[in-house]
Amino acid sequence: MQFHQNGFHPGDPRYSDPQDAVVAPPIKRPMPKEVDVLIVGCGPAGLNMAAQLSQFGNISVAIVDQKDDRLLVGQADGIACRTIEMFQAYGFADQIIQEGYQVNEAAFWKPDADKPFEIARSGKVADVADDLSEMPHLIINQARVHDEFLKVMQQSAIKLEPHYQRKLLSLEVGDASAEYPVTVQLERMVNFSQYSQEIETVKAKYVIGCDGARSAVRSAIGKELVGDPLNQAWGVMDILLNTDFPDIRLKSLIHSNNEGNMLIIPREGGYMVRMYVELDKLKENERVARDQMTAEVLIAAGNRILAPYSIDVKQVAWWSVYEIGQRITTAFDDSTDDRAARVFLAGDACHTHSPKAGQGLNTSVMDTWNLGWKLAHVLTGRADESLLTTYSAERREYGQALIDFDRKFSAMFSAKPKSAENPDGVDPAEFQRYFQLFGEYTAGVSIQYRPSIMVSDGIHQELATGLTVGKRFHSAPVVRQGDAKPVQLGHCHTANGAYRVYAFAGNAAPFSADCGVKALCHFLAEDAASPVKKYTPAGAEMDSIIDVRAVFQQHHQEVNTADIPAALAPLKGTLGLRDYEKVFCADNRPVSSGGGKDIYEMRGINREHGCIVIVRPDQYVAEVLPLNDYAGLSQFFAGVLK
Ligand SMILES: Cc1cc2nc3c(=O)[nH]c(=O)nc-3n(C[C@H](O)[C@H](O)[C@H](O)COP(=O)(O)OP(=O)(O)OC[C@H]3O[C@@H](n4cnc5c(N)ncnc54)[C@H](O)[C@@H]3O)c2cc1C
Repeated sequence: MQFHQNGFHPGDPRYSDPQDAVVAPPIKRPMPKEVDVLIVGCGPAGLNMAAQLSQFGNISVAIVDQKDDRLLVGQADGIACRTIEMFQAYGFADQIIQEGYQVNEAAFWKPDADKPFEIARSGKVADVADDLSEMPHLIINQARVHDEFLKVMQQSAIKLEPHYQRKLLSLEVGDASAEYPVTVQLERMVNFSQYSQEIETVKAKYVIGCDGARSAVRSAIGKELVGDPLNQAWGVMDILLNTDFPDIRLKSLIHSNNEGNMLIIPREGGYMVRMYVELDKLKENERVARDQMTAEVLIAAGNRILAPYSIDVKQVAWWSVYEIGQRITTAFDDSTDDRAARVFLAGDACHTHSPKAGQGLNTSVMDTWNLGWKLAHVLTGRADESLLTTYSAERREYGQALIDFDRKFSAMFSAKPKSAENPDGVDPAEFQRYFQLFGEYTAGVSIQYRPSIMVSDGIHQELATGLTVGKRFHSAPVVRQGDAKPVQLGHCHTANGAYRVYAFAGNAAPFSADCGVKALCHFLAEDAASPVKKYTPAGAEMDSIIDVRAVFQQHHQEVNTADIPAALAPLKGTLGLRDYEKVFCADNRPVSSGGGKDIYEMRGINREHGCIVIVRPDQYVAEVLPLNDYAGLSQFFAGVLK
């Protein structure tokens, strides 16, 4: 998709009149007096939390922000593959992929050996390794991601919309046994509505502080960001330009000899580019005080760094000085030895780091992707409150790892290139290697949660070596049996809070007398110990708590629809209609038709015996079990559901 050729306009680029592209702010209305969950902050962390909770239909949620309206420009723009996998669960990955810039290659530039005051390309590398994810690494304005979350919230059963112009003033956690133990006071920032009060009080069961690096929620629960006290300042601008720099449509990491360093990120629409200039690496006589910084100063710095190339800027769509230190909060929630948590922190309220590796938005949404369904399970009575302790345990370790990675990556990025005059500098080839080595990390797919009630110790891992317990379910292509459609198996994971149980069949003929999937289905449908029978409330859809799917290694035409048992063909909805989308086969179509990608081979599934793979609602593999380990299956769910 190409757009912005007549200048930058915020909002949905599919509208021909830019005036229509920006959605009007929601109608002003008073805050509810009591809610199950109050979310403070409409950044990516808060909006993802709200979007996830809105999918349950029976949880009351309010989300507030001190701003007047939704974000339109600026802030983060890098969307990791893992984050797009999550967008898929909400159903808006396709739109973001269509609109965004796809990062396929990165170029590295260093001082020219013969002309040290000019730059020369040192190499190009693939940005995303083969089969890292079925999703690309994208660049798109953070505001467009916000828009999609807002749409998910608005389209949900609870039609959730933010309350803007509300600033958190105070937060107190009272008697933990009260129904709504947290009391929050909000200041109404503009006082013109007939309903308006200067101060509004809201009582909540839980409060989620997604209010950014200067979090007032964090201060209210007595936590602070600790770590590197030194802030690094970055000049960042989104510009429409012409240039003779040949890699302008590639992500480019540029080290000049004397003029500083720069990161070029091509942007959505085909014309726009983001440039990051590290301000304290500019020559001393080129630096200006932060309050005197202008876009012109940044453009001049860009031109010096890029010599012998130059940029001719036609429009500055947005620019800012982004100042950030590497810090992590002293705790992710307010729990004490005597009391479970009532207030949680997420996103930049928990961790801050440089923008260089593009992790800000991605880590923030992954925090609330981890917390959202857990909180929903507790609030809807599916799980015990103790489940919530796994949030801090899982995300804190990752937050710390991010800070450690960022410190090393930043130091390498900021160092002068190694040369005779700078023997302690960084060899650009080494920087390039480091970039590639951590590709899995920056794509967001390397996280492996440790064993807990919801992550097993993986003693049966050899049955599915490519679906690592504790890591995200690594999708692969399959063919859906009912309609012969090639699909990604991981795309079964919608953001509805259900666990998925994948039954990978062994090599017996599908649904024959020896078929392990057939026997498992019998157990799930008939046995009193079946977790599906035990935990699905009366009147709820059979797949709403535990969604069972089967995968066969044979060609999809070898599976007979009439043989599919009830556990894989639930009757759903008010009309009791049969679901035909629970059975899949390895993609045995000819390679020339795009097939030949066998999920058994790609993910190391044991062909002879098959296996069960249990996947959490946030798409992380919780357990791998033998196909006939019904006791293991029941035991897993006894630990996480009630
Ligand atoms: C100005 C700016 C520029 C940035 N530039 C880049 C960049 O170039 N590259 C990059 O990778 N990352 C950048 N980031 C960081 C990136 O946007 C964040 O990592 C990401 O947005 C974190 O998401 P979050 O939801 O945790 O917090 P945020 O996106 O910071 O959202 C917090 C929200 O809470 C609201 N809020 C704060 N205090 C209160 C209060 N007391 N009451 C009510 N509401 C409150 C804020 O208005 C805000 O909307 C930038 C951030 C900012 C603020």
